[in-house]
Amino acid sequence: TRVPPPKNEPVLSYAPGTTERREVQAELKRMAGEQIDIPVIIGGKHIRTGKTDTVRMPHNHQHVLATLHEADASHAEQAIQAALAVKDDWARMPFQSRAAIFLRAAELLASRYRPILNAATMLGQGKTAHQAEIDAACEAIDFIRFNVHFAEQILGWQPEAAYQTWNMTDYRPLDGFVFAVAPFNFTAIALNLATAPAIMGNVVLFKPSSTAALSAWYIMELLREAGLPDGVINMLPGDGPTVGNPVLASPHLGGIHFTGSTPTFNAMWRTVGENISRYKQYPRIVGETGGKDFIVAHPSAADDLEALAVAIVRGGFEYQGQKCSAASRVFIPESLWPKLKPRLQALISEIRMGDVSDFRNFMGAVIDEKSFKKVSSYIDLAKSDSGASIVAGGDVDRKQGWFVKPTLVQLDSPTHRILREEIFAPLVGLHVYPDAKYEETLREVDQAASYALTGAVFARDRKAIDTALRELRHAAGNFYINDKPTGAVVGQQPFGGGRASGTNDKAGSALNLVRWTSPRTIKETF
Ligand code: GLU
Repeated sequence: TRVPPPKNEPVLSYAPGTTERREVQAELKRMAGEQIDIPVIIGGKHIRTGKTDTVRMPHNHQHVLATLHEADASHAEQAIQAALAVKDDWARMPFQSRAAIFLRAAELLASRYRPILNAATMLGQGKTAHQAEIDAACEAIDFIRFNVHFAEQILGWQPEAAYQTWNMTDYRPLDGFVFAVAPFNFTAIALNLATAPAIMGNVVLFKPSSTAALSAWYIMELLREAGLPDGVINMLPGDGPTVGNPVLASPHLGGIHFTGSTPTFNAMWRTVGENISRYKQYPRIVGETGGKDFIVAHPSAADDLEALAVAIVRGGFEYQGQKCSAASRVFIPESLWPKLKPRLQALISEIRMGDVSDFRNFMGAVIDEKSFKKVSSYIDLAKSDSGASIVAGGDVDRKQGWFVKPTLVQLDSPTHRILREEIFAPLVGLHVYPDAKYEETLREVDQAASYALTGAVFARDRKAIDTALRELRHAAGNFYINDKPTGAVVGQQPFGGGRASGTNDKAGSALNLVRWTSPRTIKETF
């Protein structure tokens, strides 16, 4: 192979006095002091539509960081034409040339763009320096490098030969464009949604989340600087249905690469159904959606109580619980609860929350008012419900930022709403079960929620681990044994789930890349 075998990008520490800390601080200062104007980008042209929205800091919602110009149906149509106009050139470019562009982007991101993308992710999406670093730097770099490597592996696979014939596979891109629709919570995911199909030779319409438009803008700048030809990835910020409906009605829709909520994905799938007879081809639909991710402890986890407590706190509250993979329902055996409860209360009370550019903070604010209101309503429910009690947290404060204290709620019923519905905020539901009912609890965990993204079991007893793997076979696409259920690493833990959590086309693996090709088999007889 020509592409070097990828290694995961090391996570920088941002400790006081480090170069990375100084560099990101300079970017934080610059971005907080200016107000960027983010355009629609079609065929490399910047279009200021005049219909604008704002990007604000979650921890300081009066501070406007950027203005973004929203696309409408006419821009969607222009973007489709711009993408189709460069489609054949891009598809015919030798793979080494496409790979060189993306590998250069990875190098730029590992160096000059690292503090830029990290600062944009911190201020615009409310991440701490560490949470930004593992996302906008490391995971984003890994996605590019590993995907180029996976693409080369896929392209290198050829069918069996015979003396009388040539048999060949021609890895065509999809016949049309790919619509990449990104969430606010991961800069790396936005980058992966847009670039994975492009690495395989596709042209892309990229719709970022408006709340993450600042980092999306810098992703486009990074790719332009790396040499990505105009029109290969076109950016259409704006309202979902306004942009999405005309795109999904295009006969040239070749595929959808989506991460976001289950209801949005369902709505898109329905729109595809309505348009099914218009398309030139059946679109590839790849989506990662919601989660209600579990941690189940077995009584044999008694020796690992500290690891369990840390996993609940980190899995549930890092990035304010706004990961699809966040631990949001926890099941603890009675025998562990008397010691675990005070330990959790102590750890949670030590959590510092505030401005993410203050490096001592472990948490920032939730993304926006809608999210703040949603989690507040669940906290109210917990306060008024006699079957619920607040173990830690329970306070919210919206004066300057959308702040929600890390909240742990104990529920008497293992199937309480708080243990079934996705809240996407720092609210963890917990149920204490009788030790003898481990297997029954596993079955409840399997049946209670419609999602199946990630989950973790804590146990020392090997039989208990095997039982969990068996009973929870379809309850998680990413299953963790004695670890928190967040933080999948590209190339190491291919990421995705089933049921209402998505199509499980494993981001960060060849299984995802293979979805962006429509192979042609060629047999030549001599
Ligand atoms: N891949 C991330 C993780 O393992 C979560 C992605 C998401 O929130 O969609 O934590």
